[in-house]
Amino acid sequence: MAAVTLDKLCKTYDSIALAVDSVSLEINDGEFLVLVGPSGCGKTTTLRMIAGLESITSGTLHIGERIVNDVHPKDRDIAMVFQNYALYPHMTVRQNMAFALKMRKTPKAKIAEQVAWAAGLLGLEPLLDRKPKALSGGQRQRVALGRAIVRQPAVFLFDEPLSNLDAKLRVEMRAELKRLHRQLNTTTIYVTHDQEEAMTLGDRVVVMEGGIVQQCAAPLEIYNQPANRFVASFLGMPPMNFFEGTIQRNGTGVDFVSPAGTLNLGERAGHLLNGSGLRNVVAGVRPEAFGLQANGGVAGLPATVSVVEPLGSMMDVYLELPSGQTIATRVAAKPQAEGVAVRATVAPEDVYLFDAEGPGRNLLC
Ligand code: ATP
Repeated sequence: MAAVTLDKLCKTYDSIALAVDSVSLEINDGEFLVLVGPSGCGKTTTLRMIAGLESITSGTLHIGERIVNDVHPKDRDIAMVFQNYALYPHMTVRQNMAFALKMRKTPKAKIAEQVAWAAGLLGLEPLLDRKPKALSGGQRQRVALGRAIVRQPAVFLFDEPLSNLDAKLRVEMRAELKRLHRQLNTTTIYVTHDQEEAMTLGDRVVVMEGGIVQQCAAPLEIYNQPANRFVASFLGMPPMNFFEGTIQRNGTGVDFVSPAGTLNLGERAGHLLNGSGLRNVVAGVRPEAFGLQANGGVAGLPATVSVVEPLGSMMDVYLELPSGQTIATRVAAKPQAEGVAVRATVAPEDVYLFDAEGPGRNLLC
C-alpha cells in the first residue's frame, strides 16, 4: 500500500491552456479519494497522469516514497479499472484475471491461488470458465475488478467504472466497492461525474472545475460547508437555489434583501457588514431547507406552486416567485395543488452567503 502525493501537477495539451492547473493533493495510505466534477474539468487527465497514461507537463508525483513522473505505468504498482471494462474477449474470466500475473512470470501455483482468492472475494467462482461475451455488464465489471485485485497493487485507480451499468446495478456495485475497500484497505483514487457516487464512496471528495481543485474535504463537509458557489451548486439535487441581493441591518439582526423577498439571517452575518451597513451578496438555500406554509404572514418568500413532483415520502415542489425566478423545494409529501399561493420559509442558519464577486467564496465558513 502507499500514499500518493500530487504537488502542483499541471497538464497542457496543444489545444488548451491548462487542462489540469497546479493540482496538489495528499492521498493517505488506505484512503478512498474521489475526484468529481463536470465534463471537461480535468479529473480524467489527473487520474491518467497518476496512472502514467498521460505525461506530466510540470509538478511532481509521488507514489509511496518514489517520484514516479517518468516511471512506466507497469512499474508504478497501480491497477486501473476503466469504464469499458477492457477485458480480453478471447480469454476466459480465469485467463483474464491471471493475465497480468502471467506477464510478470508469477509461478503457476501462486497465480491459481491469487485468482481463487480474488474470485472468492467477488463471487466470481461460477463464472471462471466463461468468456466475457457470455457475461452481463455487471459481471464483466466484476471481472475487471477481479483483474485489478488479483495483483494486489499499492493503489487502485478507477475511471468512471460504473457508468455503463443500469441504475440498480450501479447502486449494488457501489456498495460492493465500499465493502471491498474496507476489506482490502488499498489506497484508491476514483473518478466520477456522479455526485451521489462521490458522496457515498469517498473518505474525502475533491471537486474540480476548470482544471482547478475547488475543494477537497469529507463528503458532508463539502455538502454543508461548500467553499464557493460552484461547489455549492454542483452537489445536491435539485441544486441549491441562489438569490442576488444585499445584506443589511434590521435593528435587532441582519436581513438578506432581494427582489425575491427578504430572509432573516439573525446575527450570523453581522460581521460581514463592516460598518457600511450594506453589502452585495448571493444567498443560497438548499431545496430541503425550505418549508412551505399557507399564504399569510410575513416570514419567508411569497410564491406560487408551479410544479409538484412526488418522490414517495418526499416531494419536489417548484415555486414561481413574483420576480419571475423559479426555485426548488423538497418537502414531506402531502397533497399540494399547483397554482396555490404559499410562503417558502427557511431558518436563518440554513441560508448560505456567497461573495457576489469572483468565484463566489462562501462568506460564512
Ligand atoms: P469527462 O468527464 O468528460 O471525461 P474530465 O473532467 O475527465 O471530463 P478531461 O478528460 O480530463 O476532463 O479533460 C480536461 C480538458 O482537457 C478538456 O477540456 C478536454 O477537452 C481536454 N483534453 C482531454 N484530453 C485531451 C487530449 N488528448 N488532447 C487535447 N485535449 C484534451
